Amino acid sequence: MFLRNLKEPVSSLKGVGPGAAGNLARLGISSIGSLLFHYPRDWEDRSRHVPLKDWNKDRVCTEATVLAHDWFGFGRMKTLKIYVEDESARACLVCFNRPFLQRQLPVGCRCRLYGHFYFRYGDIQSTAFEAEPVSERGMGDRKWRAGDGGGYGGGRSPILPVYPLTAGLSQGILRKLVNQALEKFGTSLEDELPESIISRDGLFHKPDAIRAIHFPACMEELERARKTIIYEELFYLEVIIGKRAMLRRIERSSGAVAEKGVLTEGDLSPLQLGLLERLPFCLTPGQTEAVREINRDMDGPFSMARLLQGDVGSGKTLVSFLACLRAVEEGGQAALMAPTELLARQHAENAARLLEPLGLRIAFLTGNLRTSGSKAAGRNHLLKALACGEIDLIAGTHALFSRDVVYRDLRLVVVDEQHRFGVIQRQAIMAKGCMPDLLMMSATPIPRSLALTVFGDLDVSVIRDMPPGRKPVRTHLAKESNEGKVYDFVRRELEAGRQAYFVYPLIEGGDEAAHMQQDLKDAVSMAQRLAKEVFPGFSLALLHSKLDEEEKRRTMDAFRRGDIKILAATSVVEVGVDVPNASCMVVEHAERFGLSALHQMRGRVGRGEDQSYCFLVYSDHLTDDGKKRLMVMLENSDGFVIAEEDLKLRGPGQIAGVEQSGYLMLGMADPVRDVRELQRARNDAFEILETDPALEQARHCIIARVLEEAAPFTDTGL
Ligand code: ADP
Ligand code: MG
Repeated sequence: MFLRNLKEPVSSLKGVGPGAAGNLARLGISSIGSLLFHYPRDWEDRSRHVPLKDWNKDRVCTEATVLAHDWFGFGRMKTLKIYVEDESARACLVCFNRPFLQRQLPVGCRCRLYGHFYFRYGDIQSTAFEAEPVSERGMGDRKWRAGDGGGYGGGRSPILPVYPLTAGLSQGILRKLVNQALEKFGTSLEDELPESIISRDGLFHKPDAIRAIHFPACMEELERARKTIIYEELFYLEVIIGKRAMLRRIERSSGAVAEKGVLTEGDLSPLQLGLLERLPFCLTPGQTEAVREINRDMDGPFSMARLLQGDVGSGKTLVSFLACLRAVEEGGQAALMAPTELLARQHAENAARLLEPLGLRIAFLTGNLRTSGSKAAGRNHLLKALACGEIDLIAGTHALFSRDVVYRDLRLVVVDEQHRFGVIQRQAIMAKGCMPDLLMMSATPIPRSLALTVFGDLDVSVIRDMPPGRKPVRTHLAKESNEGKVYDFVRRELEAGRQAYFVYPLIEGGDEAAHMQQDLKDAVSMAQRLAKEVFPGFSLALLHSKLDEEEKRRTMDAFRRGDIKILAATSVVEVGVDVPNASCMVVEHAERFGLSALHQMRGRVGRGEDQSYCFLVYSDHLTDDGKKRLMVMLENSDGFVIAEEDLKLRGPGQIAGVEQSGYLMLGMADPVRDVRELQRARNDAFEILETDPALEQARHCIIARVLEEAAPFTDTGL
């Protein structure tokens, strides 16, 4: 029996009436399986002796005598205080909501005491403690044992589990129930990992792993149980990812494979060569290699699902244009999706500039719902043209995949800045064509843990080099009170003919967020101040997401042409904007932004020949943690390193999110923290799938069975 197939209701356990069952349900526990899957969030090691006098060194863990009872407050607020004493000191237990302790811990009784203590009103006190009488009648005393949930199998381990709780449940109740469930069902649990892996890594078999995760006999046992459970979770995560990648291949090869054009020398097609001839520069080696890999995919029998990673400014757009040419050359259409209208429009304009001369018909589709009248007519016209194949390449936001958009023959979908899209959307996109090729691009480098999980079924191309002649951006940290110096520096750059961005965390000071967080500068009022007081001689414009698209477009155009010298903006400039003459990026309240966002903003400059600068202006009251984060920016220019750091600082929460809804939930594993195990699990999983894709061999039948049971739950739309 697999753990999750223990479907017996918890109410079959002794002591679980409707009330307790309701409380457990709030923790997501309804069956025995889900109860045993409710892993402890921590373990208390009570084997150490920490006397009361050492309350400020560690959690107290001692034996004490009850000296007296006292009550304070009135009526329903009446609260019990119990005075206790061990060999080192006296203390007071404040028993909020625990009046029953009066009878459990009578005066004169000896008790085991465990908890956090503090010093208040002249006493060592605790409200978060656990106290249990040391039974005079010995270990066989069911009454108090039941209350505290002794060790599994009758033995008493000094290490006790600490569970996530909800109102109405106590550690004691949960320990008792888990103990009961283990006694009744624990030994019948079946392994889910192949035997070969269990013995190779010295892991526990399932019954031992589950017992030891709840009631470990010692810390080593706990460690081994954790290792086992983490590995099992990651292994199945990767098996599912591996299966998904295989499925993709099968689907495409059973569908119609289009006639492929001829590739010329250098693995490039005639249109691709045509574009390269028109460029004033050569592809970097990284770009060349990426184009080769993409061409090979697009020519191959399976539909492409490739992630193109490359740091900001590495020239991914051009690579995607070359891919588009390949799709169009074969008579198909290409769609280029960007996360913002601004960026989508920039792509459309670049495509028009570079690809129209080669005969491509380019369009830009706005998702702006306020379009009406002639604009709506234009949109309808465009949709018709798209449906009958009069448009070869269309750029836009996710509007490209709204329901009313129909393609004649969509062969390639390029998704820029993929990490900003919900993973689920991939499926909606794929539904628009007959298994179109998919190229995802990310400038926020995807940390390894993410690449192995959420994007784990994609092939990956990485552009590691930058176009030649780029000078690394010089980064400076500046205190807010020193910003005058920053302004002076930027003024000199402006006088030399260059341009600058100023980025703020808020659009307007009047909005609610600003009231809550006083003293934050905002783009609207700073635009005025910069224009009037700081840089009166230079043209300045405001850019933020609340402006209408037309205005944004005009502003960006003017900035690109150099008619506007300074952009006062919000993080809308974070993504993709490409203006080589801009040499200064000033981010105010830099501590308010994520590291990856800062890296992106810094990537807006350093795109031309001139030396560029990034100023991260921070609050005078910055915390040490905040400083640490900004130092990461100062010390690193490699987006991969920054992304990993960012993830570490923000925690993993968001990563496993997609998988969490499935059957194979991560109860213990953390893909960021456990990235090394993740890599090992992936190697194991992929190796098994490669040698035995149908999982028919006897030693793999356990995997097939687990997957079979999980099948209805794993369709997460990845
Ligand atoms: P990102 O990878 O951040 O999307 P872009 O595609 O916006 O980068 O490219 C940044 C700039 O570099 C663009 O102005 C582009 O024209 C230029 N560029 C791209 N490839 C090369 C190259 N091989 N040599 C010189 N400049 C290039
Ligand atoms: Mg880009």
